[in-house]
Amino acid sequence: MLKTSSLMNTYKRAPLSIAKGKGSFVWDENGNQYLDFTSGIATCNLGHVPEAVKNALVNQLDQLWHCSNLYQIKIQEDLAQILTENSCFDVAFFCNSGAEANEAAIKLARLYASQIKQINNPEIVTFKQSFHGRTMATLSATGQEKIQKGFEPLLEGFTYLPYNDSSALDYLKNQSPAAVMLELVQGEGGVIPADKEWIEKLVSISKCNDILIIVDEVQTGMGRTGTLFAYEQYNFEPDIITSAKGLGSGFPIGAMLAKEHVAKAFGPGTHGSTFGGNPLASTAGLATVQYILSNEVLGHVQSQSKYFFSELEKLKTVYPQIKEVRGRGLLIGIVLENAGYLVELAREEKLLILTAGENVVRLLPPLTVTNEEMDLFLISFKKILAKMER
Ligand SMILES: *Cc1c(COP(=O)(O)O)cnc(C)c1O
Repeated sequence: MLKTSSLMNTYKRAPLSIAKGKGSFVWDENGNQYLDFTSGIATCNLGHVPEAVKNALVNQLDQLWHCSNLYQIKIQEDLAQILTENSCFDVAFFCNSGAEANEAAIKLARLYASQIKQINNPEIVTFKQSFHGRTMATLSATGQEKIQKGFEPLLEGFTYLPYNDSSALDYLKNQSPAAVMLELVQGEGGVIPADKEWIEKLVSISKCNDILIIVDEVQTGMGRTGTLFAYEQYNFEPDIITSAKGLGSGFPIGAMLAKEHVAKAFGPGTHGSTFGGNPLASTAGLATVQYILSNEVLGHVQSQSKYFFSELEKLKTVYPQIKEVRGRGLLIGIVLENAGYLVELAREEKLLILTAGENVVRLLPPLTVTNEEMDLFLISFKKILAKMER
């Protein structure tokens, strides 16, 4: 067989080689321009190569790249401070990805249960269609067989319950697991927002039964849904959240934030990461969070979201292929058949979008997206829908 790539075959890569990006656009190696409504999968939330983050990184490149967590890193401390001051959490742990942040959350929840509450073999409830990562622990936590298949034996101790379903509430009430871990908008699983009443009940049962609540904000965090974190829109305080994707504007960094009463289970030597929160990653994170908080990015997401949803609802009345438009902020799912084919047609129209689940087109424009760019999207998208009809 003729080898076409030296890379392992873990991704079905599109025939498009991206060479450059700025704001909401990317260019391929031949200079063709694409409107990018994927944001590197909810990662380049401030658009490509945002000046503020770039300048901070360039500056840091001259100072220090890495020194390990055996020493104090002021920028990492500053990033932890800005994240905890702008959330309900007390302390932060830094790592390099979403899966690693969830690994840390699983370890902390288990240690808290076993050491502080003397629970043997603590159980963690997660949900069907969830996505928590690709490492052994996080794929075991993920409620999707296609992600687990072939990798058995899975890590024990996870129970998968139906999302937005009252039977899950009964289970929590009757079984009192050590922790429950969930996304407030299931991203990869199909852009499914959690029902507000369901969450209210889930939270009240969890608080009454001393069940830790871990919210996976890897995709929903960093302003994606219109608040810094999605939990703010559900009026409760989780015990632990995880963040990654948008945190470093494309520079790899993950974080776990926790309340002190839980975090105290972690002591020196219980968990760690060589690279986690190194000076470069923390600089990218700090500049990103500072930019979001000091440039009214969250208000912008809310207003752009309102406009985009109303325009997409209009499309739905014209194109019956669109069964539903759902999501929060600028994490948007359009339910229709042949979503994968539509994404290919979109690419031919110089528009980059994603799928989620089986029949959902997922839109993740940068949080800085303008009205003109959304209009540009709508024009191309109408063309594509018309092509799909034929
Ligand atoms: C992407 C994602 C992850 C995994 O993050 P990686 O950085 O790819 O490890 C975990 N949870 C959610 C909700 C995600 O969207």
